[in-house]
Amino acid sequence: MSKQTHAFQAEVAQLLHLVTHSLYSNQEIFLRELISNASDACDKLRFEALNNNALYEDAPELQVRLSFDKAAKTLTITDNGIGMTAQEAIDHLGTIAKSGTKDFMSKLSGDQKSDAQLIGQFGVGFYSGFIVAEKITVETRRAGAAAAEGVRWISGGTGDFEVETIHRAERGTSVILHLREEALEYANTWKLKEIVGKYSDHISLPILMEKEEWQDGELIDPSNEEAGRKPGGMVKTGEWETINKASALWTRPKKDITDEQYADFYKQISRDFEAPLTWTHNRVEGSTEYTQLLYIPGKAPQDLWNRDKKAGIKLYVKRVFIMDEAEALMPSYLRFVKGVVDSADLPLNVSRELLQESRDVKAIREGCTKRVLSMLEDLAKHDKAPESSDEVTDVLSDEDKAKLGQYSKFYAEFGAVLKEGLGEDFGNKDRLSKLLRFASTTSDTVSVSFADYKARIKEGQDAIYYITADTLAAAKNSPQLEVFKKKGIEVLLMTDRVDEWALNFVHEFDGTPLQSVAKGAFDLGKLQDEEEKKAAEDAAETFKPVLAKLKEALKDKAEDVRVTSRLVDSPACLVVTDDGMSMQLARMLKQAGQQAPEVKPVLEVNPEHALVKKLDGSVHFHDLAHILFDQALLAEGGLPEDPAAYVKRVNALLS
Ligand code: ADP
Repeated sequence: MSKQTHAFQAEVAQLLHLVTHSLYSNQEIFLRELISNASDACDKLRFEALNNNALYEDAPELQVRLSFDKAAKTLTITDNGIGMTAQEAIDHLGTIAKSGTKDFMSKLSGDQKSDAQLIGQFGVGFYSGFIVAEKITVETRRAGAAAAEGVRWISGGTGDFEVETIHRAERGTSVILHLREEALEYANTWKLKEIVGKYSDHISLPILMEKEEWQDGELIDPSNEEAGRKPGGMVKTGEWETINKASALWTRPKKDITDEQYADFYKQISRDFEAPLTWTHNRVEGSTEYTQLLYIPGKAPQDLWNRDKKAGIKLYVKRVFIMDEAEALMPSYLRFVKGVVDSADLPLNVSRELLQESRDVKAIREGCTKRVLSMLEDLAKHDKAPESSDEVTDVLSDEDKAKLGQYSKFYAEFGAVLKEGLGEDFGNKDRLSKLLRFASTTSDTVSVSFADYKARIKEGQDAIYYITADTLAAAKNSPQLEVFKKKGIEVLLMTDRVDEWALNFVHEFDGTPLQSVAKGAFDLGKLQDEEEKKAAEDAAETFKPVLAKLKEALKDKAEDVRVTSRLVDSPACLVVTDDGMSMQLARMLKQAGQQAPEVKPVLEVNPEHALVKKLDGSVHFHDLAHILFDQALLAEGGLPEDPAAYVKRVNALLS
């Protein structure tokens, strides 16, 4: 193939522009990205070679070489991995195939700092070379292809690139960066070693650089050796040395790894710029043997709610990389966990399909799940300082002090995802329900556990009360809470979208049933005294004829109409039956375009309220009845079915 010119896909051109214009604050990441690509290419070769040993040709030692040429102003990253065919070079280096990167493009804000962070998260990989290079030449040959099928790809990083066939003896890829004038500092051994140490130490592949030696310059006075020599410079020796640790971090003993190294490793595998919240590192022995290094990120990723989002676990078998995003190793409700599992027992040629069926994998998954839950339990336990002590410093170890507030932080980012586990992982339901936190009528912060609630439960109270709503304000001001406020009974305020669904799977906590204050008939049991009960019964009796008329007037809207003592200030509220779907959930489903059963609520009226008292004998009975109903709907976040009719009725009464 002779030289061909191709245009970059529009998105690539856009990305390149961004990369070259806004990443100056974090230039050096280009090396991490290119080394990571080289390492991936070696992993791919190793994987393909499992079934075809000939791919190793005569170079079985996989490695990455860094070299530079000051005079030519180039920096070259060479790997002897899988390489690319001409078509692969055109496809992979000219388009953005990954939906993730497209997603990334749509999230760009134009703000340099946050965009740079995004790049970290999504990893634009190869194109980051253009941060420091005005031109990039890639020379590559696919493993197993003939030397004559080498490829040269060249681009100046603007509109297009050129591809041509070349002769290339070695398999694998060389990325040759023609450095910009202001990026010449990267053509320097120390600089490169420093960056590799920072980002790529744990790449399990050796990264090699040619050794340099100090050499004295020529004689100052050729006729007099005594006079000494001019200063020389660093000279390459032709001998290559490994400059990274090249040992997989997770295989080293815990005590030899610093927190900083753990955090660096996390950043490397997660492409997160921020440090992780916490991690756990263990060798598990038993029926199946494996090492796990699992991290909880400090921040939720942009795509946390993407249901197709893959797990963040990399699978290795005996230190050989097998696959990214091994979803079989972690339940979906823990999809935010990042890390590495290295199995001693799985076959190297394990496929995703095989993973689903393997008993070993099942054991690993359970083991990892338990570890993550223990880690969260530990954070939860140390989230708040013990109440008995004012002087936190006296009682807490440094380690425990570091955990203060960590669980709250975790929960704010990932709590809603964790709740999915209630419906997904029945075996761990009890542990999960202990990890739940809510706001309540006594706490604005999301910090109340079921156990906290139970510790404060009132004498005679036999249920854990809660309300679900769209927002905290709507929950707090809901008419259903009035009598609870009056009697000083705490109610949990649930405002996550998944709450209602998740609570389908939790009916009680530690023997105490959960009860929605917006569902079922109102019954405070022992919390109501005889007098109150009697008054309620009397009211129900006297109100009977009015109730019958209300029922008739509202027969299309309300399932039933009854008097209640749950209201104090409001004239009416809506409730649903005990096993019915809440009005809020039904609304949510409808908004999401899903099928929701038609919920016909029960209208409950407050016989003590002036407006309700006015009903009897009023000439406006019909209008008042509808206004009562529609207002109750408004109060709990709904909309009247016919808003215009509602406005008309209210206006008629006002005038
Ligand atoms: P990513 O690596 O995240 O997929 P990149 O833009 O870095 O995205 O690379 C795009 C593709 O180009 C890679 O997926 C890979 O197929 C190919 N590629 C990049 N570098 C190399 C390399 N050193 N050897 C082989 N293929 C490579």
